[in-house]
Amino acid sequence: MTVSATTRIRESLIGLRMTRAMEVLDHTLQRLEKGEISALEAVDDLLNEEYSSREGRRVGVALTTARLTPIKTLESFDFSFQPSLDRNRIMALAQLEFINRSEVVHFLGPPGTGKSHLATALGVAAVKAGKSVYRATLAELIDALVKAEREGRLAEKIRFYARAALLIVDEIGYLPISSGGANLFFQLVNARYEKGAMILTSNRGFAEWADVFGDPVVATALLDRLLHHAVVVQIEGASYRLRSHADLIPEHVRANAPISPPPPPKKRGRPAKTRSNDE
Ligand code: ADP
Ligand code: MG
Repeated sequence: MTVSATTRIRESLIGLRMTRAMEVLDHTLQRLEKGEISALEAVDDLLNEEYSSREGRRVGVALTTARLTPIKTLESFDFSFQPSLDRNRIMALAQLEFINRSEVVHFLGPPGTGKSHLATALGVAAVKAGKSVYRATLAELIDALVKAEREGRLAEKIRFYARAALLIVDEIGYLPISSGGANLFFQLVNARYEKGAMILTSNRGFAEWADVFGDPVVATALLDRLLHHAVVVQIEGASYRLRSHADLIPEHVRANAPISPPPPPKKRGRPAKTRSNDE
């Protein structure tokens, strides 16, 4: 290769800010000169290095922005530990069609059964596929909405949470919620209704939502939106956190708190299309 051509390539890479390609250029050119790779392979090599490096950076930033750290993956999920869980169903969800269809996925089950892990892993898969994702606990979400309302920025905050293609709301049911908080969450759910997908995790059955949200009217309105176009995944198993201490835990704690099935959806003039567990 002539000097002027390599100089021009170098200048172009600098101009295009292709840092990674710039780093590997000399090595690629050496291999080309030694006849180890073809010219086509050299071009492929440079572009591929640059692309992978940028993609890695994009995913890293997006995972942090989405608050999906610590990272969990489906590969690291031990399905044999949770026999009540249908692996194929989770793998089907990982195809991410539920996001394109703006559906709501519910993970229900006792503490430690992998609800947050699965929700995060699906979020990570979505980020890798280029989707915008945001994850928060219900308490964090409501705190942020309460603060925004106090500061006169509620509409803006709701727009922010409504923007992500997938919103993950973790830990519904652990902490009590004020009626003001429940109302704000309803406004957010309503803003996303049929526009964006959600994953919700909860240790409480739907029948207990009146109690969780401290208000049966808001709970019914929430469930109405959140069970329409919904996929419900119920996990009935032992806590992974406690797996090595099972013998130390009293039987009444080890036994899973039963989770009630969804109540019949309240009618709002059109038939509900809630999809059952085994679809
Ligand atoms: P939950 O949200 O249901 O309370 P988590 O998803 O937070 O439970 O799981 C608790 C911990 O155990 C996490 O560190 C998670 O990664 C891990 N974990 C849970 N279930 C499994 C599993 N089946 N395979 C591998 N790790 C698991
Ligand atoms: Mg959790």
